[in-house]
Amino acid sequence: MKKTLFIIAVFVVSLFTGCAKSKAGTPVSQKPVESNTQPAAQAPAPVDPKIQKLNRVLMSMSDRCKEAIPNGDPAEFLADLEKVLQIEKAFPSDDLSLYYLIDKKHTVSADYEPTHLRKLVANNDYIINKTTLSLREDAADALAEMGRAAKKDGITLDVSSTYRSYETQERTFNYWVSVDGLEEAERESARPGTSQHQLGAAVDFGNIEDSYALTDGCKWLNAHAQEYGWSLSFPQGYEDITGYRWECWHFRYIGVEACRFQKKWFSDIQQFMFEFIDAWKNME
Ligand SMILES: [Zn+2]
Repeated sequence: MKKTLFIIAVFVVSLFTGCAKSKAGTPVSQKPVESNTQPAAQAPAPVDPKIQKLNRVLMSMSDRCKEAIPNGDPAEFLADLEKVLQIEKAFPSDDLSLYYLIDKKHTVSADYEPTHLRKLVANNDYIINKTTLSLREDAADALAEMGRAAKKDGITLDVSSTYRSYETQERTFNYWVSVDGLEEAERESARPGTSQHQLGAAVDFGNIEDSYALTDGCKWLNAHAQEYGWSLSFPQGYEDITGYRWECWHFRYIGVEACRFQKKWFSDIQQFMFEFIDAWKNME
C-alpha cells in the first residue's frame, strides 16, 4: 500500500513541477527508496480519490501556475488545503467568500455589494485619507489589528481607498480611458464588476504611486501584512497573470491561513492560489 502511494505521489509531484525548482520540502522523487519487503507482483492498491482530484485540478492549471508550485509532498499539500477550506466555513455565510476569485475573467454583478459594510472613521489605529471609506466588517477588524501592530513598530499606515461600488468603478474606468486610452487604462484600472475593491476587502495604502514602495509603511506591509491576513494582490512581474501592473499599495484581506498557503505552495502569488481554489471547488 505504502509503496503504491509513493508511486502515485511521484506522479503528482511530476505535475507539481514543470521545471526543476525545489524550494519547499524534499522532492518526493528524491526521497530514498525504502527497502523492498513487498512481494514482487502485487495488485495495485486503490488510488486515493483526493490525490486523483489534485492531479486533475493541477492538469487544468496554467503552465505558469504549475511552475509556481514547489516540489513537495501531495499529502502535506492536501492537508494545508483542507485547513484553508475549513477556515472558509467560518466566514460570514451571507456574503461572498474572502477567497472569491475576481479578476478580468471572473466578475461580480453590477448590483453586488458586501452585506456588512462598515464606514471607516478617524481612529487611533491608522490614518484615513478620505471620509468616504468603508470595508466589510471582517476586513475592517483585520485592518485595525494590523494598524495597531504597525504602530507598535513605529509605523502609521494610511488608508486611501477601500470599497468601490460598481458605479464608482464605472466612473473611474471611464475617466482613465479618457486620460490614457483604453489599453493603458486596462493595466491600472478595473472594468466595472472586476475589481477586488467591489468585494470590500481590498485597501490601497499611501499615495497609490510606485514611490509608495520606498516608504517605511510599504516596507512594513511587505514584511508583516501576511501575519494579519493581508496579501499583496498585484506583485511585480506578474501582469500577464493578474492582469494588472505592479501595485505596491494594493492589499486584499484573505485571512492568515490563506496567506500561509499562498506563500508555502504558490510562490506567494495570490492569483495562482485563488485560481487553484476555484478550480478545486469546480472539479468533480
Ligand atoms: Zn487597489
